[in-house]
Amino acid sequence: MAQEYPQHIWHNGHIMPWQDATVHVMAHALHYGSSVFEGIRCYETPNGPAIFRLTDHLKRLFLSAKVYDIVIPYSVDELAAACREVVKANGLSKAYLRPIAFRGLGGFGLSAETPTDVSVASWNMGAYLGADVLEAGIDACVSSWQRFAPNTIPAGAKAGGNYLSGQLIAREARRLGFGEGIALASTGLLSEGAGENLFLVFEGALHTTPASAACLHGITRNSIITLARDAGINVIERDIPREYLYFADELFMCGTAAEITPIRSVDGKPVGPGKPGPVTRQVQDLFFGLFSGKTADKHGWLEALG
Ligand code: PMP
Repeated sequence: MAQEYPQHIWHNGHIMPWQDATVHVMAHALHYGSSVFEGIRCYETPNGPAIFRLTDHLKRLFLSAKVYDIVIPYSVDELAAACREVVKANGLSKAYLRPIAFRGLGGFGLSAETPTDVSVASWNMGAYLGADVLEAGIDACVSSWQRFAPNTIPAGAKAGGNYLSGQLIAREARRLGFGEGIALASTGLLSEGAGENLFLVFEGALHTTPASAACLHGITRNSIITLARDAGINVIERDIPREYLYFADELFMCGTAAEITPIRSVDGKPVGPGKPGPVTRQVQDLFFGLFSGKTADKHGWLEALG
């Protein structure tokens, strides 16, 4: 799908026209995947636009950078201000934000010390996997590509290079006619979707795969765990073998981009009765209720755009 670009972007400390935020072809990150980034959403709420868990996302950005010794020359507060500034500069009240810090031009070789470039883009992005599937559910498949082993590439650091794995999984799934792919970890146990965490409902409890299964420590995942526990739903983080995808009464994927997307079939087998079930709907209501005002923001996750 062709992307429609917004007018402005924040790049290395300033708001500038979108087309001016360019990098050199010899930038380190382009060759070696040495970038760390976030995906964040700004929602319209009854109290005005709010960026969902902005501080938590930026803290994760700094942790990802720490893993790769990428020095970000700004503070969390400065980047939070940049995020707000770019959403406002583009005249948006509902937006997807993409802060990225990457090794730029100025050093060659794997262990080179390079300057860090930092940008924040924001644009209007609808439902990542399609608005219809938020309602109807997606048809997913288990990928032939496994996620990386934990002692190879750290899945908990949200680095550009990780997304070669995500591209293999997502592109294979689409090529085969599925909406999204689910990967197994190097252990053979379930990991996560190409760009989403995974939940299943089994025997009345909500189950999700642990960080040790090569998953990103998803902020939507954490929000769902918290909201579900607040609502009295039993949530279990555990190793999950593949066949539980077929045993599950309900399945869904989650992430900032995908929000909460029900899965209605896996590998051509229907999940439960083949349509989104009551726990999935309850979790969707709790999550989207944060933005409509129906769910109380008990944890201070809505950070006003200001
Ligand atoms: N796993 C992967 C691989 C992802 O790229 C994402 C999206 N950032 C997620 C899970 C979900 O994470 P979050 O809820 O923090 O967006």
